[in-house]
Amino acid sequence: MTSTTSETRAAGEVARQDAHIADILTRIEGVLDRRGQPVVLHEPLFRGHEWDYLKTCIDTGWVSYAGSYVGKFEQALAEASGVRHAIAVANGTVALQIALSLAGVERGDEVIIPDLTFVASANAVSHCGAIPHLADSEEATLGLDPRKLDLHLREIAEVRGGVCINKRTGRRIAAVMPMHTFGHPVDLDGLIEVAGRWRLVIVEDAAESIGSLYKGRPVGGYGLLAGLSFNGNKIVTTGGGGAILTNDDALAKRAKHLTTTAKLPHRWEFVHDEVGYNFRLPNVNAALGLAQMEQLPGFIAAKRGLAARYQAAFAGCNAAEVFRDQEHVESNYWLVNIILRPGLEGLRDALLSATNDAGIMTRPVWRLMHRLPMYEQCPRMDVSAAESLEARIISLPSSVKHGLAS
Ligand SMILES: *Cc1c(COP(=O)(O)O)cnc(C)c1O
Repeated sequence: MTSTTSETRAAGEVARQDAHIADILTRIEGVLDRRGQPVVLHEPLFRGHEWDYLKTCIDTGWVSYAGSYVGKFEQALAEASGVRHAIAVANGTVALQIALSLAGVERGDEVIIPDLTFVASANAVSHCGAIPHLADSEEATLGLDPRKLDLHLREIAEVRGGVCINKRTGRRIAAVMPMHTFGHPVDLDGLIEVAGRWRLVIVEDAAESIGSLYKGRPVGGYGLLAGLSFNGNKIVTTGGGGAILTNDDALAKRAKHLTTTAKLPHRWEFVHDEVGYNFRLPNVNAALGLAQMEQLPGFIAAKRGLAARYQAAFAGCNAAEVFRDQEHVESNYWLVNIILRPGLEGLRDALLSATNDAGIMTRPVWRLMHRLPMYEQCPRMDVSAAESLEARIISLPSSVKHGLAS
């Protein structure tokens, strides 16, 4: 090949890339109707009783851990998630940490989590003294692939006396923590079957997926326990906060006790019966959360409407498609994502640059856990699907307000 042909070819490639980027930008612009204003990835919306409830906290002095909004917020969370109990805590990471610990995860155990997740999933495992065991995801759900997990376990694990042991490391594999990526439920039926076969307890990382339905029932109620997050960029926010969900009365009681300094109820004595945590959610944050929960159905409708508009706008696009939830699920579409066609991985960074330069905030998906320094030594299976997704996913501006504007 002469240098002129390769140069011509490279120039053609650049021109094709530029055309793809211009095309994608036009499609995004068409949905956002932003009139030249910069657009962020996700901003909260406060148009319910937020001011009223916060004012009540301040007027009455109940701003800290005692106060009536915590219980009301927990009640709203349990109802929305179809579970018996919700325990509000300081953030989603500690919700997952305590949930894992109550599920029986101990120091030196392994916990299966997707390689493609936000770092908090892996950190929660580490804070229990356990080791993340990284699993692959599937393109249909963007979450843990149960069939591939089963094949992997057949190769490396065995059940001895009702306990799943990793034959390579000698450690117990105690639990599996699927994550409902961007609000899209994982294949829960498949996962429940595999977890049962391998005696793994399921703890759901439902941080992004409050209100998402799997076969008509909310996620967060499928595992023994689940964790939610109310960080500022989630669909419902308390500023910062989280919650533990469970249907188990005894575990709910333990969760409340452990996260509230393990204090025994008494009118004045300070008696604590174990090393507890101060993971409580302040009343002001719960006040905000209650007001937000009252708006959750409207938020989800807006998000689903926004996703549908992005999907329509990307019809016939050669370079990318908007991720679509499956027939049997109803995602809250916390973040709407495009997935570049296989072979167009080279477009990702150029597209991130072009959109952000144009004032449209987009983001890649999280760097895979096994590529972060503290998790590169973790046991893992073949994660080729996660690697492919990492190279092709781009999150689009997904604030509720864009869904309401239609
Ligand atoms: C946000 C999030 C968390 C952690 O929540 P924080 O409230 O930020 O601690 C955990 N897992 C996933 C997948 C998340 O997106």
